[in-house]
Amino acid sequence: MRYFLFLIATALLISCGDKKQQVPLDFKSFEDRFILEFWKQNPGWASYVGFHEYDSLLTAPTEENRLAEVAFCNAYLDSLKLFDESKLSKTELTDLMMIRDQLQSTIWYAEVFKGHEWDPSSYNVGGAFGIMINGNYAPLDERLRAMSSKMEKLDAYYAAAKANIKNPTVQHTDLAIMQNGGALEVFGASLIDSVDASGLDHSEKENILINIEFAKMAIQDYIDFLEKEIKPTLDKNARDFRIGKELFEQKFKHEIVSSYSAEEIFGKAVAAKSELHGKMFGITQELWPTYFPKERMPADTLKAVRKMIDLLSLQHCHRDSFQSTIEAQIPELTAFVKNKDLLYLDPEKPLVVRKEPAYMAGVAGASISAPGPYDKYGDTYYNVGSLANYTDPEAESYLREYNKYILQILNIHEAIPGHYAQLVYANQAPSLVKSIFGNGAMIEGWAVYTERMMLEEGYGNNSQEMWLMYFKWNLRTVCNTILDYSIHVNGMTEQQALDLMVNQAFQQEAEAKGKWRRATLSQVQLCSYFTGFYEIMQLRDELKAQKGEGFNLKAFHEEFLSFGSAPVKYVRELMLESSDQRIAKSE
Ligand code: ZN
Ligand code: ZN
Repeated sequence: MRYFLFLIATALLISCGDKKQQVPLDFKSFEDRFILEFWKQNPGWASYVGFHEYDSLLTAPTEENRLAEVAFCNAYLDSLKLFDESKLSKTELTDLMMIRDQLQSTIWYAEVFKGHEWDPSSYNVGGAFGIMINGNYAPLDERLRAMSSKMEKLDAYYAAAKANIKNPTVQHTDLAIMQNGGALEVFGASLIDSVDASGLDHSEKENILINIEFAKMAIQDYIDFLEKEIKPTLDKNARDFRIGKELFEQKFKHEIVSSYSAEEIFGKAVAAKSELHGKMFGITQELWPTYFPKERMPADTLKAVRKMIDLLSLQHCHRDSFQSTIEAQIPELTAFVKNKDLLYLDPEKPLVVRKEPAYMAGVAGASISAPGPYDKYGDTYYNVGSLANYTDPEAESYLREYNKYILQILNIHEAIPGHYAQLVYANQAPSLVKSIFGNGAMIEGWAVYTERMMLEEGYGNNSQEMWLMYFKWNLRTVCNTILDYSIHVNGMTEQQALDLMVNQAFQQEAEAKGKWRRATLSQVQLCSYFTGFYEIMQLRDELKAQKGEGFNLKAFHEEFLSFGSAPVKYVRELMLESSDQRIAKSE
């Protein structure tokens, strides 16, 4: 408790005194100090982003600590009022707005959303300990000492968790049981082996081994509590995993930070879906005689589109050349962006394609690994999953999904000019605040936007096949939003959700089932892709209208990315304002 009081005291110092006349800090120093104190409040999050000073801490989720957290946020919200926003640079101003959003949303989660009461899976220490075991940021002995001290706090942590839980959902209770079971494995044989192999002295080793046993008991006790005391009480009257309209709207506001409400975005997604269906059917009609010269087109338009997609999906690379195919595409994408003058790409920062490292293995696919904000010299990798463990039918199904067309769109999204290019720009305007609190809807929206933009500029030679597959890919993004909103607000059932994904969005059954599960356990996040995409497209239209002949696509992209990962809504305000006038408030 003492360090919380200390934090509040220092925060108050900033906001007390002779207001306006005497801001004791410039904004940059204020931010540095805020972030350090924020990490003390959130040691798990800190380890996750690579800040390891507070690894040995673990905040028990008690009522007392929640109140202290809210007080911390309120104190900092007061401090933010001391800065004259008209005197801040654009980077600083967007940072300020993002800190304010973060503080307000923390208060909202604690006081209104109250996941700490109904989501037992919010209590899980597996990830935090996993980072400490696998990380090489510090010598093993040092990491083990920090872990040991963290383990001593597990009893209090889980005791507080148990006290918090009131009428949880069945789904989040099951998830908690499963994930905490996974956390137990973190304390298994390989940890004990590394204690043996460490340079710690005999008594330190003994002490850690005892703490490991106590840690396992604390986790097992929590699992037993959920299984034996909570599960039997969960019947038909248990809390619905659907959060309902009011909470969904509010969570959308805090998490997405959009100019629109969730309901408005849902309406736009529904309209986009029927527009995409229309375009896809148009292309199918055009291509039909070429691909099915002897067959009549099904009367059901969705079935006709599906047939065309299934046929085109047969064009895919061999399982052994999956990585080399991706590797070969990166320079092609780079050359296209350069020749069409779409965005400056720093030649000093080429993207390295690599086979997915072992600790990420298990899921084929592709992802970008970027160094955390505290690892300035780390490399950025494009991880490509191995298909080695797939049976032939599994590999075939996967390769059809990531066929010749979709694989190119995936590379645009993940790499160039999608996530990877955005990241290079974000690093040029370094802001710890933006890399820590980076807006997911902006980041995903940019990647989704680049898919459309590249095709509009003629990538794929404007072939109808490429457009059809792109529309299918885009339809998934659109349906993620429809699904999320419909399930949580409109009571959509699993059957209706599967019908939407499989019959109306041409997805595979297995993928659709996984998405249903994800949508029952999360809320709002699935809306981020379409919302960001929609707002970027709209901002581009607005600027085109405003600038007329003077509009330049490359300049638009570069200015847009220059703000770092700030919400599109804020970037929009800053890009639309005239150069000498600055918006004063975010809302
Ligand atoms: Zn095949
Ligand atoms: Zn993405």
